[in-house]
Amino acid sequence: MTNSIWFLKGLRKGIATERFPLSDPVDPPLWPSLLSGNDDANCPTKAIENRKWNKDKCISCRKCIPVFKPTGKQEIFDVRIKTEKMFKRSIYLYPIDSGTCGACNAEFFSIFSPQYDANRLNIFMTNTPRHADAIVIMGVYSDGMKDVLFRAYEAMPDPKIIIALGACALSGGIIGREPNFPGAISLKIAGCPPSPYTILEAIYKLRGK
Ligand code: SF4
Ligand code: SF4
Repeated sequence: MTNSIWFLKGLRKGIATERFPLSDPVDPPLWPSLLSGNDDANCPTKAIENRKWNKDKCISCRKCIPVFKPTGKQEIFDVRIKTEKMFKRSIYLYPIDSGTCGACNAEFFSIFSPQYDANRLNIFMTNTPRHADAIVIMGVYSDGMKDVLFRAYEAMPDPKIIIALGACALSGGIIGREPNFPGAISLKIAGCPPSPYTILEAIYKLRGK
C-alpha cells in the first residue's frame, strides 16, 4: 500500500531532477557562495586578510556580515586539471572521511540523490579505492587518519587524482591544520559545507565539460 502511494505521488510530480548542466539551479542557496566586500573583518579563521577573501579558509560563520556579503554565486571551487583524457567515459569517486562534522558527507552523498542524479553525468561512487579514479577527502587532516589516507591512495590504480572537499580538508577550518595529502590536489571545493550543486558543477568541470 505504502509503495503504491509513493508510486502515484511520483507519477503526479513527474521528473524532479535538476536540469543542470542545461540550466543553473532555480533557487541556489545563498550560503555558502562567493563573498564580496572591501574592508577587513574579525574573521576567526583569517579567511579575510588585507581586505581579501580566501574561500579555502572560510567556514561560513557569517561573522563578517555586513562587511563581506554572499554574492549568491556558487563557483567556489578550483579545477586544477581537466580529466577528459585520463578518465574518458566516467569517473569513479571514493569518499573518505578524515574527521568531519558530518555535513560535508551529507552534501556530497546528496549529489547521488534523485534531485541531482550524478550518475546521469557518468559520475559514480565506489566503496573501494581499488576501483576509484579520484579520492574525495573530507574533514580535518589528523595524524590518526594519515596512514588510512595514504594506504587508500596507494591502493588506487593509476591514473588517480585527489579531490579536497570543504574548508576542513582545504585549510583545517576552525580546529584543524594545513593538510599533507599523499599527492597534489586536482580539485578544491571550498565551503562549509559546499552545496550539492557546487560539488556537482565542480566535478562536472573537472571532467573537462
Ligand atoms: S563567513 Fe566567517 S569564516 Fe567566512 S570570511 Fe566571514 S567571518 Fe570569515
Ligand atoms: S568543512 Fe565545515 S561542514 Fe565540512 S566537515 Fe568541516 S566543519 Fe563540517
